[in-house]
Amino acid sequence: MTHKYYGSCLCGGISFNVTGFSKKAANCYCTMCRKFHGAAYGTLVSVTGLTWLKGFELLKHFTAENGTQRSFCQDCGTSLGFRIKNAGIDEIELAISTFDEDIPIKIDAQIYTEYKANWCELQQGIPSFLQGRNEN
Ligand SMILES: [Zn+2]
Ligand SMILES: [Zn+2]
Repeated sequence: MTHKYYGSCLCGGISFNVTGFSKKAANCYCTMCRKFHGAAYGTLVSVTGLTWLKGFELLKHFTAENGTQRSFCQDCGTSLGFRIKNAGIDEIELAISTFDEDIPIKIDAQIYTEYKANWCELQQGIPSFLQGRNEN
């Protein structure tokens, strides 16, 4: 039987599980990730087998000027997910901090570091990029 990894928002109103993760996961220091997560960086990952267990109706979606969408819990404000422009809800990338257990993820890049806050230090030993992964 496939292992399922469970996650939820802060208030518990929304919960979900997934069966797998993309191999790539980056800490993103861009301004929008920072604002959305209220943190020095955001980390989102593509998943497979996503099932919303409860609270799907509590998800609110913010669309930025560039068409990207970010989803959060309307009750507690937890940052849950990100979609590129015109992507369906099935293609949502999840904020890895919302998982309630250890997940098989290794952060392999630090991206958009030119937008990093002055008070935040990059992590040693992880490749960093001023913009996306393939640029510098
Ligand atoms: Zn919530
Ligand atoms: Zn970002």
